[in-house]
This record gives sequence, structure tokens and C-alpha cells, in this order.
Amino acid sequence: MSEQTIALVTGANKGIGYEIAAGLGALGWRVGVGARDGQRREAAVEKLRAQGVDAFGVPLDVTDDESVAAAARLIEERAGRLDVLVNNAGVTGGMQQVPTAVDLETVRTAVETNVFGVIRVMDAMLPLLRRSASPRIVNMSSSVGSLTRQTTPGLETGPISAAYAPSKTFLNAVTVQYAKQLRDTNILINAACPGYCATDLNGFRGVRTPEQGAATAIRLANLPDGGPTGGFFEDDGVVPW
Ligand code: NAP
Repeated sequence: MSEQTIALVTGANKGIGYEIAAGLGALGWRVGVGARDGQRREAAVEKLRAQGVDAFGVPLDVTDDESVAAAARLIEERAGRLDVLVNNAGVTGGMQQVPTAVDLETVRTAVETNVFGVIRVMDAMLPLLRRSASPRIVNMSSSVGSLTRQTTPGLETGPISAAYAPSKTFLNAVTVQYAKQLRDTNILINAACPGYCATDLNGFRGVRTPEQGAATAIRLANLPDGGPTGGFFEDDGVVPW
């Protein structure tokens, strides 16, 4: 079996996902660049390769069963296993997120990608991850999904949101349940918050760079055996659920 660590990053064609792919690639890892649009995917792969990253494109729409199954087959053919899965792909669902006026389609879109998409990809990749000596899963969440932060005066974060924030709360809950089920395996699964980063997701209003936002996911992808699982982390440490 190849000694080189094999990683898959979803939504890696831009923003924080691209920087996660670049950061893992800089460690000498082989990185699958998961992205749904062919042109954007190949542009990212070429840019990563120009930086010396051993990158390969993985056509992947996380909302599509067949696309995700094909991505698992491609990784099996290319690498035979998967060591690290970073579920980074995410959407807001739409800009109008006032709870009493939100369009259900906005909620559905956020949950389809940010929750069902992650479950779909994890379940498809778990057989490949189980072949790894030290499998890691990182789910890109957000502190806006922290119910503690949403309900503790002084800790509130993010705008009022009926779709995006609850979808990340749901993702956090899913992460905890997978960690519980997988606790007796060598798979470590954690959620990460990147902080408020300037990307397409927020019209580049974030105050951190995508590279800064990638740091926690890269750290969780590199956890040693016996490291934490079922946790939620940001730069400064643990995020309360
Ligand atoms: P971004 O620049 O908009 O990137 C999102 C990525 O997800 C893009 O590559 C996008 O691909 C991909 N994507 C969306 N739907 C997909 C699908 N169905 N299948 C495959 N890929 C899909 O946003 P970002 O800020 O880097 O966000 C990355 C992650 O960090 C998200 O999970 C987000 O919720 C989380 N996050 C971001 C912030 C922030 O301040 N930016 C804060 C907290 C959490 P396309 O190019 O094809 O659209």
C-alpha cells in the first residue's frame, strides 16, 4: 500500500476548500479535488499542480447519489483507499433567511448540501476510509451552528438565519452521532469552524483569509491516533455545541 496520504476535499475548487487542498498538498499528500463544475475543477487542479501539489480532479456533486458513488469508484481506482475526507462543500441556501418569512426551498437547499450531502459522501467513502491505518473525517461546520453561542448573551454570532445556521447545527448533531458509532474504530471525526472568511459564500465580507479558515480543518486532518473525536474546534480551541 502506498505510504502517501490520500485525501479528498469536497468543494475544493475555491474558497476555504481550495486552501485546505493546498495545505494538505503542501504536506506531500495526494489530494482529490472534489468539485461539481468541470472547468472550475480542472482550473483548481492545474493551479495546485503548479504549486507542486499532487492533485487530481474528482467530479463530485454532493447532492447527487450517482455522482458521489462515481467519486468513490474513482478514488478506489486511483488510490485503493482514502485516509482523510474533508466535507467542506457548503451553501447558504439563499439570502432571505428571516425565520417567519423564509422560503422552504431555501431551507431545503441548505440542508440538501450541508447535511444530506455530508451524510451521502461519508457513507460512500467509509468503505475506503476503513482501509486506512489512520482515517480522519473533518466536517466543515460554523460557529453559527452552535446553539450555545446562539443562545448565550454576549456569545451570539452571525445574523438571524432560518436555513444556513440550523443546517450547521444539524451537521454538528450528525457529526456527534457518527463519532459515537465509530468510537471503537480508528476513525476520528470532528467538526471545524473556519471563522468568518472572505469568500463567495458571504460576498467576500469575511475578515479572515480563506487560508486562515483552512487551518483548523488541516489540523484536524492531521490528528494523531488516539486524538479527539466527536468534537467541534476552531483556532482558539473547542467550540461549544
Ligand atoms: P465558497 O467559496 O462559496 O465555496 C463553497 C464550495 O462548495 C465551492 O467549491 C462550491 O462549488 C462547493 N459546493 C457547493 N455546493 C456543492 C455541491 N452540491 N457539490 C459539490 N460542491 C459544492 O464558500 P467557503 O466560504 O469557502 O465555504 C466552505 C465551507 O466553509 C462551507 O461549508 C461553509 O459553510 C463553511 N464556512 C464558511 C465560513 C466563511 O466565513 N466563509 C464560515 C463558516 C463556515 P461551486 O464553485 O461549484 O459552487
